[in-house]
Amino acid sequence: MEHTIISLGAGTQSTDLLLRGLRGEFDKVPSHAIFSDTGNEPKGVYNYLEWLMKYVDKEYNFTIDVVSSGNIFKDAMAYLHGDRKSSEGIPYYTKNPITGKKAIIRRQCTGDYKIRPVRRQIRKLLPKVKKVSLWLGISYDEMQRMKEANVKWIKHRFPLIENRIKRIDCINNFKAKRIPVPVRSSCVICPYHSDNYWLWIYENEPDNFAATVSLDEKIRCYPGINNECYLHRSCRPLKEVIVDILKGKELASKQLNMFPELIDECSGVCGI
Ligand code: SF4
Repeated sequence: MEHTIISLGAGTQSTDLLLRGLRGEFDKVPSHAIFSDTGNEPKGVYNYLEWLMKYVDKEYNFTIDVVSSGNIFKDAMAYLHGDRKSSEGIPYYTKNPITGKKAIIRRQCTGDYKIRPVRRQIRKLLPKVKKVSLWLGISYDEMQRMKEANVKWIKHRFPLIENRIKRIDCINNFKAKRIPVPVRSSCVICPYHSDNYWLWIYENEPDNFAATVSLDEKIRCYPGINNECYLHRSCRPLKEVIVDILKGKELASKQLNMFPELIDECSGVCGI
């Protein structure tokens, strides 16, 4: 028997996927939803998840499993301070201070903090299972993020794409059903953020922004990397970048999305 499980990011698309699935809008109804907590989501995501867990319990007698393999921010700091042996694997941008050449560190955090904890939980919930259909909330307009699972016992499915449901359709669906619209889920410290998203964090989550700046300042000398590391893709200190973003805010505000985007893909498991 193939079980249907949702990898829940608690963002717009995966939440819409879960609710549509529980309403029976697809060919299967999910038996489980698993949220892997990196410990570094915006406060809005945690508040929404708390509400969502109560909502699905009340409406569908359904439980969302929350799992974690640690706090990515704390792990990053511990590694920098020499209190942790392995890197947290964030894809920092790097710049050679002499040549100015830029690059990016290979990302490992998605596997460690998002994918593996979900797989561990599936094994715990269904120890004898041979095949799992893992639904990912990737919308039709973001189909470039689709990726097959790298293990045989998990088959990824993308019901939003199969049904040509776009991000805006998810948002409209929440509104039509008078359900609060989730904020975008993603680690606060993720280097993939667009300028719009950095500005959103600065304006909406000042504590988180301040903590992120402190990490950004520490990673110039990142253990094992000869070049300077940065959180912003321009390879400039985040503190300086935000000043420039704020200076251009009036102009930028005319182009800002209500839901700021990530500038890069993340295997379809972060930010959905
Ligand atoms: S959101 Fe960014 S930092 Fe967090 S796990 Fe995904 S890639 Fe890594």
